[in-house]
Amino acid sequence: MANLEKYRALGGWVEKPDDMQPALEGDVNADVVIVGAGFAGLLAALELARQGAKVVVLEREFAGFGASGRNAGYLAGAGGLEYDLFLKDIGTERARQIIRYYEDAVPFVEGKLEEHGIDCDYNPSGIIRAGIHPSQEKKIRKSMRVSAGLGLHTEFLDGAQMRARGIPPAFLFGEYTATGGTLDPGKYVMGLRRAALRAGVKLYENTPVLSYTEGPVIQVKTPHGVVSAPALMLATNAYTPQLGLLANTVVPLRVSAIETEPLSAAQLASLGWARREGIVTVHWIMESHRLTARNTLLVTTKRLHYPYGSKTPNVPDHDQYRELSAALRDRFPTLKDIGIRACWSGYISFANDALPVVGTTGTNQNIYYSAGCSGHGVATHSMVGHLIAQRIGGTEPALLAAVRHETPRTLPEPFRWCTVNGALAGAAVMDNWLNRNVRDAARPG
Ligand SMILES: Cc1cc2nc3c(=O)[nH]c(=O)nc-3n(C[C@H](O)[C@H](O)[C@H](O)COP(=O)(O)OP(=O)(O)OC[C@H]3O[C@@H](n4cnc5c(N)ncnc54)[C@H](O)[C@@H]3O)c2cc1C
Repeated sequence: MANLEKYRALGGWVEKPDDMQPALEGDVNADVVIVGAGFAGLLAALELARQGAKVVVLEREFAGFGASGRNAGYLAGAGGLEYDLFLKDIGTERARQIIRYYEDAVPFVEGKLEEHGIDCDYNPSGIIRAGIHPSQEKKIRKSMRVSAGLGLHTEFLDGAQMRARGIPPAFLFGEYTATGGTLDPGKYVMGLRRAALRAGVKLYENTPVLSYTEGPVIQVKTPHGVVSAPALMLATNAYTPQLGLLANTVVPLRVSAIETEPLSAAQLASLGWARREGIVTVHWIMESHRLTARNTLLVTTKRLHYPYGSKTPNVPDHDQYRELSAALRDRFPTLKDIGIRACWSGYISFANDALPVVGTTGTNQNIYYSAGCSGHGVATHSMVGHLIAQRIGGTEPALLAAVRHETPRTLPEPFRWCTVNGALAGAAVMDNWLNRNVRDAARPG
C-alpha cells in the first residue's frame, strides 16, 4: 500500500535541476513572454527562438514542475477520445480535423526527440485500450466504429490475440492503436529544458507571474521584476484559471499515480508482456498500467478530484493512492505483495467537451493560451506550443485553426464543485460496480 513516506511532492520522474535558472530581478523587454515551462511553453519557446525572436519564459517553480514532469508518459494520439462529449456539437468534419490534430501530435513529438537528441526511453509500442469485463466489448466496438467513420483506424484484439502478445490476463480484449507508446516524461521535459537553454531562450525559474496588463505591449508582473513584450503566451494549462483566464471554461482535476518497486527478472518473465504496450482501460474513468524502463509498474488515473475554486494545491491524495493500489492488486494479482516506490499527484485541465482550449484574448488579441488537455497532453500540448509559436510568428497553421472552437461554459461555484465532483462520484460508483463483478467472477468456487 502506498503511504506518506512514499509520497513525492515533485512526482516520480524529476528532481529540482542542479542548474536552476535565476529568478527574474528587474525589468526586461522581449518579443514574446511565455508563462509556464512545461511541454507547451518549452516547445513554443524553441520554435520562437528558431524564428529568431527574443523569448523570455517565466516559470513559478522549475521547468517540468507541472503535469509535464508527473504524467504517465503515454505518447498517445486520438485513441480513446470521448466522442459522446463533443461529436454532436462540433460535427463530423471538425471532428475529423481534431482527430488529425491528435494523430499528428505523435510523430511531431517523435521528430522533436530526434531533432534535439532527447533520450527518454521512448518505446514505440502502440497503446491498447483494454476491457476487463465482457460487458465492455460493446463500448470498445462502438467507439471503434465511430472513430473509423472519422478516419482513425485501430485494430480489435480478441482474447487469443491479447494472450499471443503476452498481455496480462486481467485485460481480456482491446483496441490497439499502433501509433505512439510510452516514454519517461521527466527525461523528455528536462531534454526540452536543455534544448531551450541551448537555443538561447531566457528562462527564469522560481518566478511566479502575479498578474499582467493588456495592451499593445503587455506587462507581466512577477515579485521582483516586470517583462514587457508585444505578445504573451499562457502555457499554464491547469493553473490558468488562477491567472484570471478561462475560469469559466476549464477546471483543474487532480490525477494521481503509484509506481511499484522494480520487478525482479522472474516477475517480469512471469508477466510476459514482452512489447510493454501501454494499457488503458475502458472504465468511465480509465485506469492506466504500464511498465517503465526501470522495470517498475506505473498505475495512474482511476479517480479524479476537482478542488473547490479551481485551486491546485501540491498535496498528496491518499484516497486516490488507495484506489490505485486496489487496481494494481486486481489487475496483477501475482504482484499483490510488491512494494510501492513512489506515489504522487498532479493536475490536468478539463473542459466540458473534453477538447483542447486554444485561442487568443486581450484588447489587442496578443495573449495566446492553451489549456484543456483532458489528460491527453504529452503529444498534443507539445505540438500546440509549436503551433501557437508559428501563429505568433505570423502564420496560422491549419491544425491550430481546426481545434479553435467555442468551449461550453462551466457553472459558477459552488455549483461547479457539486456537479463536477458529483459526476466523478457517479462514474466511480459505476466503475466500482464493474470491478466488484470482475472480482466476484475471479473468486474460486
Ligand atoms: C498524473 C498525470 C498523468 C498524466 N498522464 C498522461 C499521459 O500518460 N499521457 C498524456 O498525454 N497526458 C498525460 N497527462 C497530462 C499531461 O501531462 C499534460 O497534458 C501536459 O503535461 C500539459 O503540459 P503543459 O505544458 O500544458 O502544462 P504543465 O506541464 O502543467 O505546465 C504548466 C507550467 O506552468 C507553471 N505555472 C503555473 N502558474 C504559473 C504562474 N503563475 N507563474 C509562472 N509559472 C506558472 C507551472 O509550474 C507548470 O510548470 C497526465 C497528467 C497527470 C497529472
